[in-house]
Amino acid sequence: MGRHGRQAQSQNASIAENLASPYEISHSRSAVNVASWLERCARNRPRDPAIFHGSRRWCDHGGLAARVSALAAGLRGRLGVAPGDRVAIVMRNQPESLVAMYATWWAGAAAVPVNAKLHPREVAYILEDSGARAVVVSPDWEAGISEALVGMARPPEVLRSQDLERFASEGSAGPARASPEALAWLFYTSGTTGRPKGAMLSHRNLVQMTLGYYADVDAVRPDGRLLHAAPLSHGSGLYNFTHLARGAAQVVPESGGFDAAEVLELLEAHGHVSFFAAPTIVRRLAERARETGASAPGLQTLVYGGGPMYVAHVEDAMAVLGPRLAQIYGQGESPMTITALGRADHADRSHPRYFERLASVGRPQALVEVAVRDPDDQDLPAGEIGEICVRGDVVMSGYWGNPAASAEALRGGWLHTGDLGAFDTDGYLTLKDRSKDLIVSGGSNIYPREVEEVLLRHPAIAEASVVGRPDPEWGEVVVAFVVARGEPPAIASLDALCLEHIARFKRPKEYRFVERLPKNNYGKVVKTELRQVIAAAGDAALGSAP
Ligand code: AMP
Repeated sequence: MGRHGRQAQSQNASIAENLASPYEISHSRSAVNVASWLERCARNRPRDPAIFHGSRRWCDHGGLAARVSALAAGLRGRLGVAPGDRVAIVMRNQPESLVAMYATWWAGAAAVPVNAKLHPREVAYILEDSGARAVVVSPDWEAGISEALVGMARPPEVLRSQDLERFASEGSAGPARASPEALAWLFYTSGTTGRPKGAMLSHRNLVQMTLGYYADVDAVRPDGRLLHAAPLSHGSGLYNFTHLARGAAQVVPESGGFDAAEVLELLEAHGHVSFFAAPTIVRRLAERARETGASAPGLQTLVYGGGPMYVAHVEDAMAVLGPRLAQIYGQGESPMTITALGRADHADRSHPRYFERLASVGRPQALVEVAVRDPDDQDLPAGEIGEICVRGDVVMSGYWGNPAASAEALRGGWLHTGDLGAFDTDGYLTLKDRSKDLIVSGGSNIYPREVEEVLLRHPAIAEASVVGRPDPEWGEVVVAFVVARGEPPAIASLDALCLEHIARFKRPKEYRFVERLPKNNYGKVVKTELRQVIAAAGDAALGSAP
């Protein structure tokens, strides 16, 4: 072999070596601590706004990075917070909530954002389970946190949000280096069944989620705004990265929560605003806009998800807000990223399957594989209902301190979501209900969502939730809990509507008119409570029998 040949051979060998270790290459290239996005904003656009409190500019990127690095130094120096430690954040939405999160990542630690509406006992569980070294609380949690820490063997240090500035130390080093797999966010599931579990999300998972947003949900302009109208501990907070990575600003409402009038005012005051909201919030916002004739001029995109959105409600919202809606389907275990139904699908009224598409959760996002599987983990064809499974770099690595639950959820390398659904032949996924909500009557499956969609077509019905009641003859029968807009409509008119749209056996056998539906802190209807109401009524009836 001549010199040339040998050279070519050794060149090939080095290419092959590189190809043999693509994983190492990708490691070294994707080692981004999410806090480094803030550092870059401070360097590239120091005087551009970073956070607004309502319509007031609260700080620019340079100021935010200075606060964050000083607090990170305080966490490290005074509390000894080390990479890998957990810092819990129990705060209503306020600008300091973002400061606390970014400082945690800057210090190389993992954030445990906790919904501030939880009960102190529920917060205590999360603090203990996560082994948090410190907890940052907003002023409304002064008493609550003391209650939560009673009897705790190793209580975390408590930092009050109003003391953060004083707690900060000197030191303006950049963010700690974090490996892509390092834990960044411990996301506690809403726990509508059993104890919440901490889904472990790494820096890599969060980077992937952010890229997925740009690929499938929306573009973000550098002068755009992200409004936090929902708790920062959940979807709204996860989305901070979509704007941070682009150098855009975030808006924290002064009320610290959701207030429809305030949100509409902020949509007047700011331009190119996007935000994430649960379906109940979208409904309340649309109602308010309809009543007041507001047109939300500053709205770019309202992303909804986190629970079922009924077609009637999407249409109501688009009637006042325009086709500026997008939907995502995700869960803490695959944050914000399983499928998406974009603005174009919402706008495309001429499509023959427009309404079916609106009732779906859209198509798989670009960065994940999504499959519908049978109980033996075999893929099912379009049209058949099975469990939705997801695989991709956005998926959690497991549940904190719970290898058994992790192995179960991630068996075969796929996240088993616990959600049931079916693809159509165009690849749109429609969610059925979670398996525990399925009603089996006379041996046939009834998906409550289907019945709820029909009831919501009735103009006098604001909300509906359908559950099964045990029945000696049928196994279960359908009971509908209904919130009327004013006077309850005649049952006959609801019956007629059902008969027009769905099979006779799916019709509710009983209607219960209620003032409101029981919901958890994220606005999701808690069907277990509805079933308890039915069970209690059943016991009462048994008790009164002769
Ligand atoms: P969480 O982990 O608290 O965000 O809850 C995730 C669960 O909310 C999912 O497993 C679904 O059951 C439900 N969910 C999320 N997004 C949607 C959506 N777009 N439509 C219907 N249900 C949804």
